[in-house]
Amino acid sequence: MIKFHPDPEQLSEYVQGGLSPIDSIMISAHCDMCERCEKIAHQQTLIHAERFEGDASGLSVDNSASSQRGFNDMLESILKLPADKGAQHRSKGLTASVDLDGRRFILPKTLRKFIPSTGSWTSMVGRLWQAPVDIGSDSVAANLIYLGQGGGIPEHSHRGIETSLVLKGTYEDGINHFQAGDYVYMDSNDTHAPICNTPQGCLLFTVLDQPLHFTSGIARLTNPFSHIFFR
Ligand SMILES: [Zn+2]
Repeated sequence: MIKFHPDPEQLSEYVQGGLSPIDSIMISAHCDMCERCEKIAHQQTLIHAERFEGDASGLSVDNSASSQRGFNDMLESILKLPADKGAQHRSKGLTASVDLDGRRFILPKTLRKFIPSTGSWTSMVGRLWQAPVDIGSDSVAANLIYLGQGGGIPEHSHRGIETSLVLKGTYEDGINHFQAGDYVYMDSNDTHAPICNTPQGCLLFTVLDQPLHFTSGIARLTNPFSHIFFR
């Protein structure tokens, strides 16, 4: 079951078109995999459309406490839905995929358009594969990352923001356990060392706006290593 979702405020900004293109891609891809957030985004779209219509017609919009209560009740009932129910159902319709080492991975709908601009896989240290993805931005670096069983990324902190979506499999980072569909947001307050301990491995889509800062082991000593996911 998906445990890590974007904040409700982010979803609200997303439906109002207030996020950066990159954040919109990440949240849209998460919504492809997460029935819960897809429903919230859909409901918020309806609410904003209603407000827009209300504003446009010059009618007063009901912002009263009872209206807010109604919204909270609705949110509550959406949040009670089983989160994974739709993901499996929707995945039947997906056809676009990437291949690595004899494995085929179906990507969420939002990410499929980047498959033609995905570079080839590079085998890195420690059962770690990376394929750069050109998402049309010079200010961030996007990658598909595959961790084989026992594979990991050395412990690092973040100078900027790292946003990841788990596309397949599971990994852990000493604090949490992440699985397919989880939306993982890390900033300068977070230090972690992702590792995959399951036979099926783990595929991630990751966006960085600054190089990682490695904090332990040999990675700390080899400066160029901090740029492997960035350029
Ligand atoms: Zn979600």
